[in-house]
Amino acid sequence: MNTRRQTLAALLALPGLLSLPWAARAQSAAPLRVVASFSVLADMAKEVGGPAVDVTALVGADADAHVFTPSPVHAQRLAQAELVVVNGLGFEGWIERLIRATGYRGPVVVASQGIVPRMVAGQPDPHAWQSLVHAQRYVENIRAAVVLARPAAAPAVNARAAAYTRRLADLDASIRSRLAAVPAQDRVVVTTHAAFGYLADAYGLDFRAAQGLTSASQASAADVARLVRQLRSQRVRALFVENLGDPRMMMRIAQEAGARLGGTLYSDALSAPGTAADTYLKLMAHNAETLVAALKPV
Ligand SMILES: [Zn+2]
Repeated sequence: MNTRRQTLAALLALPGLLSLPWAARAQSAAPLRVVASFSVLADMAKEVGGPAVDVTALVGADADAHVFTPSPVHAQRLAQAELVVVNGLGFEGWIERLIRATGYRGPVVVASQGIVPRMVAGQPDPHAWQSLVHAQRYVENIRAAVVLARPAAAPAVNARAAAYTRRLADLDASIRSRLAAVPAQDRVVVTTHAAFGYLADAYGLDFRAAQGLTSASQASAADVARLVRQLRSQRVRALFVENLGDPRMMMRIAQEAGARLGGTLYSDALSAPGTAADTYLKLMAHNAETLVAALKPV
């Protein structure tokens, strides 16, 4: 052993040195590189992991995961991940091919694992995050995957997940009581694509949509005409645009049916940082407030 190595070995043997900041950093693992398929999952992973994770989303704020086309930048990001978080239930039709193409061999956590999906015409509805109860399952699946990858961070991550879960449950209770004030006959609302089935089931609302479960298929002229006829014959208080896609179709339907626009609902993406729905909790609270404001008795 040369002198330099001997000196280093002697230094490392000094117990006091281990409490020095550089030694502590060397001992703790770097943040886990997490890649989430879309913005809602990325926010949940940040809430759960805190400083133990470094999270990026493939499909970002105000972007539509149904019609996403990955670029080489996304492939590179995924290739460098240590944990990939996806929604599942057929939401990210492009993810398996992207994972195969990048050669990523690490863990993939399906956040909706364990949820019994609502079925629409034989297809699972992928938008399960629109239920704050299902979101608690998402959090548990993400927590388990992060702890498995970074066991040293388990106590902090478990505590963060428990606190976040309480906030989700509190918001669920608060939305339930706010929406209870909406009379039964005023609970029909219309949106662009069928993203709010879980929200409707959770709070006893009746959502109609111009498009189906995915925004990838455009509503036909016949679909629009049918919706306008339905709206004219039924008591519909408001139509809502989404933060994805082109709002003009809903504006035209509202005009033709003589219904008013009740505002923007956030469906499959958070809004840009610093705006109304830039976290999952804010997204759910904003949607509930917008619905209550549009539907409350006048
Ligand atoms: Zn959707």
